[in-house]
Order: sequence, then C-alpha cells, then structure tokens
Amino acid sequence: MSTTPKIAIIGAGPAGLTLGAILQKHNISFTIYDSDSSPNERNQGGTLDLHPRGGQAALVEAGLWKEFTKYARPESDVLKIVKNDGEVLWDGNTTDKREVPEEEKFANRPEIDRSALKEILLGAVKPESIRWGKHLKEAIAGQSGKYDLHFADGSIDKDFDLLVGADGAWSKIRKLLSDTLPTYSGISLIECWTYDVVKENPWMAEYAGAGSCYSFGEGRTIQIQRIGDGSVRTYACLRKPESFLKDCGIDWTNPGPAKEQYVKEYFDDCGADLKRMILESKDKLVPRTLYQLPVGFSWESRPGVTLIGDAAHLMTPFGGVGVNAAMMDSLSLAQEVVKFVERGEGKSLAEVVKQYEVDMFPRGEMFAKKTMDNMQKHFSAGGSEHLAGRLIAHYRKPASTS
Ligand SMILES: Cc1cc2nc3c(=O)[nH]c(=O)nc-3n(C[C@H](O)[C@H](O)[C@H](O)COP(=O)(O)OP(=O)(O)OC[C@H]3O[C@@H](n4cnc5c(N)ncnc54)[C@H](O)[C@@H]3O)c2cc1C
Repeated sequence: MSTTPKIAIIGAGPAGLTLGAILQKHNISFTIYDSDSSPNERNQGGTLDLHPRGGQAALVEAGLWKEFTKYARPESDVLKIVKNDGEVLWDGNTTDKREVPEEEKFANRPEIDRSALKEILLGAVKPESIRWGKHLKEAIAGQSGKYDLHFADGSIDKDFDLLVGADGAWSKIRKLLSDTLPTYSGISLIECWTYDVVKENPWMAEYAGAGSCYSFGEGRTIQIQRIGDGSVRTYACLRKPESFLKDCGIDWTNPGPAKEQYVKEYFDDCGADLKRMILESKDKLVPRTLYQLPVGFSWESRPGVTLIGDAAHLMTPFGGVGVNAAMMDSLSLAQEVVKFVERGEGKSLAEVVKQYEVDMFPRGEMFAKKTMDNMQKHFSAGGSEHLAGRLIAHYRKPASTS
C-alpha cells in the first residue's frame, strides 16, 4: 500500500466536486479551493443533460445515483425544432409522445439543473475539505517535486504532491503544462431569463415546451431551455467577430431597449414567436462571448499536475457534452488515484497522471470534434431541417421485426 499523496483540487465546479466526491467515498483526503466566497455566490443557472456513460456513470461511482434520480428531470429530455422563420419542424412535446416505462426513465439524457447537481455533489464532500474565497493566483513548483499554491489573499499553501486543475476556461494550473490559451469561437450571444415563467408569462412556458426548443440558421441560432426551478433561458446567438458585443452600439446596461435593438438588427425576419421569447424575457440579460481550446489540445505529461473538465478541453455548449466530458475526467482520474492509494500496483504518481491523460486526450478530442461539428451545422442554412430530419428518422423508424 502506498502513502496518500497530498492532493489539491482547484475549482469547485462539476469537475472538481465530482472528483472530490469519489475520492471521499474512498476515504482519500484532498482540499478543494474555489474563488467563490461561498457555494451560493453565483446563480448556477442553466440545465445540463447527463449521459448514462458520462455524468451518470460518475455519479454512480460517487454513490449519488439515488440523489440524482430525486432531482433529475427525465421529462425534460424532449426537443422542439423550429426554422428561423417560425415553422415548427418537430415537437417532441406532442409528436409520438409515449409513456416511458419507469425502468427506462434514465436510459437517455435526463436533464438536471446545474444548481441541483452542485447541491448533490456538495452533499458528498465534507465541508472542511472545501476552502471558499481562495482565488489561485499562481501555482509554483517547489522543492523535491512538490507544488505551492499562491492565493490572491496573500496566503500560500505548500507541498502538494498532486495538483488537479479543475479551474475552468481560464485555468491557472494549465500554465504549468502549456502556453496555450482559449481562443474566441466565433460565437457571441445574449442569454435572456424569465424566472417564474408559468406565473409571469404562461405563453412562454407553453411555447418552450417541457425541455429545449432550438432554431438554427445561417450565422445565428435561438436556443430555449426550461429549467427545473421554473425559469426559462433563451439564448440568441450570432456568428460575429470577438469584439462584436462591445462594438455593436447596443447599451447592455439597459436590457429592454438593448433586446429590442438586438432583435430588430439581427433577428427581425425570424418568426414572431421566436422573437417574443427574446423580447418577453424580462428578468435578466447576460451578454457572453464563447471561447474554446483547440480540438485535440494536449500537453507533455508533468509529474504531479494535471487538468480535468473545461481546463483540459474547453468547448462551446453546442455539443451539449461539456459537463459529461468533465465528469468522465473526474471519474477516470479518481479511479487511477484510488488504485494508486489503495493498491499501489507498483506505479508512481507520475505514471498515475500519465495513464489518466492517455485515456483523457482522445476522449476530450472526440467531444471537442463533435461540438465543433454541431456548431458548424447549427449555424448553417438548413441547420434546423438537419436536426429535425435526424429526429424524424430516429423516432419514426419502423419497429424491428427480428
Ligand atoms: C452558456 C453555457 C451553456 C452550457 N450548457 C451546457 C449543456 O447544456 N450541457 C453541457 O454538458 N455543458 C454545457 N456547458 C458547459 C459546461 O458548463 C462546462 O463544460 C462545465 O461547467 C465544466 O465544468 P468544470 O468544473 O470543468 O468548470 P467550471 O464549471 O467552469 O468550474 C470551474 C470552477 O473553478 C473556479 N475557479 C476558476 N478559476 C479559479 C481560480 N483561479 N482559483 C480558484 N478557483 C477558480 C470557479 O469559481 C468554478 O467554480 C455550458 C456552458 C455555457 C457557458
């Protein structure tokens, strides 16, 4: 049996917390550091679909399957596809609606609110293992292959054997492994929220349906998501230069007129219902530019340091796979660390890190390629027709006679 390495995980997002939850199940100690001052500092927003062999598998390994089934929303695993002009091509809320047997409820991609996922994971990590309000400025290689963490508050935590960068897009840990930085993906968007949609605007709830509603077209998309907390998010996305949101002349601090100008200039010829979903989202407006790491990003393995989740393979949301890729990393790294600590198996910690990376690089590349491919299709003329065609072929295929 080998001795337990001193482990630091930077970032309490889905990747860092999943890793922590699995390590804790095996009584392996670690410390998670996060910039946020508390778990509730930011509205976690959004909904995520967890795949059986992705996020779901990691939750099973963390002993959290039962918790997951309490909060997951299999009923939201439904799509509506609309052309930019408003024509509805596919509506899973009404088309071929079938009762899903209890045992198949989680067989596909049930949605879970990001905030609920965080709650579940936090419940599986001892509060004393997480240090909130610790913004990492720099990690520095110290004596005898160990690492020191330098925080923005001036404190330094020393002598870690294993640093795991789960610190997202702009990872500070990545600098120990590579000079590569994320680059602009070509897509900018506004995210429009309505909190209590059934009460505030029942029409929007009806139009969005129970799950997601997508409208794809040349150079622009509208994506609408129902969230388990009763809210709706509408994302109105454009293929534009990186500085577009700053330079387009729209005053984002004044949400009502900003949305009107944005819709008039870039979505005016879209269907009236799609435009209403943007204009009538009254509660919050968030402009965003999307970044990504190169497809197939990798680095030369360095003993004692590695990356999981967005820090390792940041991609745009258009593949709907980022969180699954992140949680698969956590699962696979946790399994290597557990083998090392519990059984030793003659491996060094450097080999543990390398083995994890050998498995992760092709997986990250596969997810990044899928995302890039989806992004190209969604932002093309005929993007809605393409996805609707696939759904129709899938759901209407004749039952097997064998
Ligand atoms: C608009 C949008 C919609 C999305 N929709 C989906 C979807 O539908 N499905 C899907 O699978 N994925 C989706 N994604 C992607 C998904 O959110 C990410 O892949 C996932 O959150 C990655 O998890 P992570 O833990 O690696 O990183 P993050 O969630 O980014 O967490 C990183 C954590 O590190 C902390 N941190 C960062 N820097 C430091 C520092 N210097 N010091 C200390 N702490 C630090 C942060 O506070 C944060 O808690 C979406 C992303 C966006 C932007």
